[in-house]
This record gives sequence, C-alpha cells and structure tokens, in this order.
Amino acid sequence: MRMEGELQALTIRILPPDVSVLIAAGEVVERPASVVKELIDNSLDADASDVSIEVRQGGLSLIRVTDNGKGIPADGLALAFHRYATSKVTAAQDLARITTLGFRGEALPSIAAVAEVEMVSRPTDAVAATYLRLADGQPVEDGARGAPVGTTVTVLDLFAKQPARRKFMRAPTTENQHIASLVSQYALAYPEVRFSLRLDGRQALLTSGSGQLADAVASVYGTDVAAAMLPMRWPIDDEHTAISVGGLASPPHISRASRGCVSLFVNRRWVQNRRLTFAVEEAYSGLLPTGRRPIAIVDLRLPYEEVDVNVHPTKAEVRFRQEKDAFSAVQRAVRQALLEQAPVPSVPSSAGVAVSPPAAPEEEPPPPLWQRALEAEGQPRTAAGAASPPPKVSLPMLRVVGQIGNTYIVAEGPDGMYLIDQHAAHERVLFEEICAARQRGAADAQGLLDPTMVEVSPRQKEVILTHHEMLSEHGFQLEPFGERTYLVRAIPAVLAGKDLSQAFSELLDTLDEEAAVDQQDQVAFSLACHAAVTAGQALAPEEMRELVRRLEQTEVPHTCPHGRPTMIHMSTALLEKQFRRR
Ligand code: ADP
Ligand code: MG
Repeated sequence: MRMEGELQALTIRILPPDVSVLIAAGEVVERPASVVKELIDNSLDADASDVSIEVRQGGLSLIRVTDNGKGIPADGLALAFHRYATSKVTAAQDLARITTLGFRGEALPSIAAVAEVEMVSRPTDAVAATYLRLADGQPVEDGARGAPVGTTVTVLDLFAKQPARRKFMRAPTTENQHIASLVSQYALAYPEVRFSLRLDGRQALLTSGSGQLADAVASVYGTDVAAAMLPMRWPIDDEHTAISVGGLASPPHISRASRGCVSLFVNRRWVQNRRLTFAVEEAYSGLLPTGRRPIAIVDLRLPYEEVDVNVHPTKAEVRFRQEKDAFSAVQRAVRQALLEQAPVPSVPSSAGVAVSPPAAPEEEPPPPLWQRALEAEGQPRTAAGAASPPPKVSLPMLRVVGQIGNTYIVAEGPDGMYLIDQHAAHERVLFEEICAARQRGAADAQGLLDPTMVEVSPRQKEVILTHHEMLSEHGFQLEPFGERTYLVRAIPAVLAGKDLSQAFSELLDTLDEEAAVDQQDQVAFSLACHAAVTAGQALAPEEMRELVRRLEQTEVPHTCPHGRPTMIHMSTALLEKQFRRR
C-alpha cells in the first residue's frame, strides 16, 4: 500500500515558445547541410532561376543563400520567422496535396533558434529591399536597403550556443562534402536553375541552368558520364497512367562502388527511399558485376495526392499510396532504357523485361555453418584493421592441386582439403603488403609516362582536398588540371595495368562514406580490391603456388580484409565422415 503524499504528481505545462522552437530546431537543423537544404527549398518555392550558395568553414561560420525569386513583402519578413508561419498552406486539406517543397513553416524559426540570421528581400514590385536581423530567434535590427529583386539569407555562427551539437559536428571538410553532395542533388533535380556553390571561396559547383538534364549531369559527374547516360521514359507510348518516369540511367559499362549515385526525385523533391533505390538496382540485375552500383537520375511524377510528404520534419522521406506501382514504374523505366539503348553483352536468360516481384532488399544472410564452426574454434571473422587486431592464426603449408571454375584454388594440407577463393586471398595478401609499406613510409609508386586525366564530382573533389596527403602517401601523385579534372602522374604500383579511372573514382567514393574504420585502412581495402585477381581469371599453377605461398605469410590468412573467408577447410575427419568411411 502506498502512503499518501509519497508520490507527488508532476504539473503539466505547455513549453514556452523559446523552448519548443529549440526542440523543433533539433529535428529540422541536424547539421549545416540541413540549413542549406531548407534555404534552397525556399528559393525554389519562390520560383528562383538563380541560386547561389556560399559556405565558410563547413557552414559553421557562414551560410549564405541568394536567389532571384519573387521575394517577401516588407511586412512579411518578421512573420516568416514565426513558428508555423507559411505562405504555402492555408487549410488542413492542403496537406493532402503538397505542391511546394516547404509547407511546415518551421525552417526559418528553427534556423534562427540556433544561429544568427539576416534576411534581405526585395519583391518584384518593390523599389528597395527590406532587411531583418535576428539573434537568439528575436529581431534585433531592421530597415531598408538597396538590393536586387530576390532574397538573401545569411546564417552566422551556427550552433554557437549549442555546444553539444557543435561537439558532434564532423570536421568542416566533412560538412563541405555533405553540402556539395546536397547541392549536386538539387542541380540534378532542377536543370533549369543555375546553381552556384562556393566553399571557402572556391567554386565547388556551377551549373548552366540550361534546362537540359545532361548539362546538369555533366556539372556533377563529368562530361564523359553525361554523354553516355541513357534517357528513360515511362510509360513508353502515350498510354494514360498516373505515374511517369523520366531521367537518365547509366549504361552497364559505367558504374560506381557506392550506392550514393542513384538520385530519386518525386514530383521534383529529392527523397531517400530504399525501396526505389532497390528498384533501380534490380533493373540492372545481371548487367553489372557484383558490388557495382549504377548512376541514375530518376524523375518520378505522380498526382500530388498519391504521395505523403508530411512524414518527417526534414521532408527527405515520402510515403506512396501505391508503393508497388511506383516501384514497378521505376524498375521498368530503367530496364527499358537499358535493354533498348545499351549494348548488352551477356544478359542472363532470367533478365527479360518481365518484372519479378521485388525481393526483400539486402538482408545479410547468416554466416554459413562452417564459418560458425571456425568461430567456435576461436578463429577470427573480422579483418585486421578492424577495432582490435585478431590473434595471429598461421596457415599450414599447402600443396596446390588445381583450380575450379577459374575462381577457387584447391589445395591439400596436413589435415584435409582447402578450397581457396583466389580474389579474397589475393585481397588479403595485397592489403597486408600495402599496410606494411605505408607503415614503413615507403609506398610503392609507379610514375606514369603518359599522365592520365580523371574527372571528379564536386563531392569527390572535396574528398581529394581532404585526403590529399594520405593519397600521396599511398603513391598517388595528383595535379589539379582545371575545375574538376586532375592529372594523375603516379599511381600505387599495385594498380599498374588496372583500370585507373575506375579504381580511383571508387577509392574516392569509399573514402567519403563516413565509415567507422580507419580511413587509411579504407584506402588499403580499396586498392587491394582493385589490384587483386578477379574471380573467373584462369591462373597458371606457378601463379597459384605463389599466391598460396604469400597467403601463408599473412597475419590473418583466413579472412579477406572485409571479413569474408578466404578459404573453406574440409578436414580429413569430415571427409571420412561424409564418405561414411567411419
Ligand atoms: P515554409 O517554407 O515551410 O513555408 P519557412 O520557415 O521555410 O517555411 O519559410 C516561411 C515563409 O517565408 C515561406 O512560406 C515564404 O513565404 C517565406 N520565404 C522564405 N524564404 C523565402 C525566399 N527565399 N523567397 C521568398 N519567400 C521566402
Ligand atoms: Mg521552407
């Protein structure tokens, strides 16, 4: 029994506005790129055809977005910074068909809650601009000023008063990468808008605003990629459907190692949606080598009431009323473009136009039984370079017997048979050699008599600038050559004779994913993966013997650097048991 007075009920209060706005700000403004996103949304909603973004120190010291849109009337400036103040929605039923990028009326007050903000705006019919400056979310100064038609929002000292946020912020260069990739997405979604992005005074992206998607693709991925991209169109004939798909998809010979190159736009809103990304990848099944991802710009249009954009404060996710229809339209559009326009060398028979029901996206299968058995024996499954170095497990001397399917090496050891995955094994060998060379400070570089030119995306360029020193430690000698082109004068020796531009581009893509593992290891992983013999490559007996000999000398012979097994061991006892000799 509870004594009276022991527990006292707490008083419920409505939070004062300065607290509730901070809570909302936490959701809307996660990082500097979120501010950039909200400001660009506002510019586009104001029908701007020119949007310039200037960023300093990863956006923490300054973000400024200038547009030539229709502006805000003088008496609207202060109102725009009130919570739930918007010109885009008036009644509840409007929420069922949102046609603008913004609608929640939360962005400006949220930004003003975590930074100092100045807004200058001149509507089309006004003779001068008005400005308003806010500190701690409150207006501190306003007045009139000469300025061209349009709006400029300047955000200073973001998170200066939110030490916790600031602490979790990555390095300015990482924030720059996020911003560069965000603006690239907008450039792809709005080819008719001229976007300019300057990061610390450097022009990181500039699009023409010509209205041609291919021009925007060229600004983001380079002219070679842009020229090769295949146009998509769904439905094919003028068949009447509610859903249409346009955009561009990469032909099978152009691909990337990371997922980040599938851009999805739903009614021109950039969204993240795993199912639709999967629909795009599905369409490439049988056309790309495993682990390779396409580049695609998917422009999906459907009636506004078919999509719910009011799912999350950042509006980066949407829900479809008929997700299956959206999925299959995207998949068919991509597949159709590929089959009709791409020269396809070897399509497996299963890869017809018919669309199979989508399988569940990438669930990691449980490790195979034998691997669990290995773990039970105390052998490591994770790679060297992961958190703690696994204990050294030595490999017995092996005698190579032969090769199966140009992929696996059969070898005999003191206790039975070993089946070795030649690619995984070679990756392990190269990974350790690359790491060792780096530790000695003696990466093996090979000069190129004929320097190769590579084109990089704005995001990749940020990666190069961030990791320039590390890349050179590994043997890359790079020389800037124009806006987004580099001359490669030397490469890590392991890459000699390999497809350099592909290897390099993938390396940059792995680096910019904020992986938990050491970035140095990331470089070694990527180089090893590109330099290693591939599955399907016939090896001469001496080559197999050499590979196995080098594998025997590695620290962790049983797993490749990604933690996949390099070999399967079938012990003599197991063989005897399987053949019922015992
Ligand atoms: P929302 O975009 O959801 O309406 P915001 O807080 O982002 O909310 O903006 C509030 C209002 O301020 C907008 O509805 C719009 O009327 C006005 N506004 C903001 N930025 C601009 C801009 N760049 N050009 C014209 N109007 C703007
Ligand atoms: Mg907005």
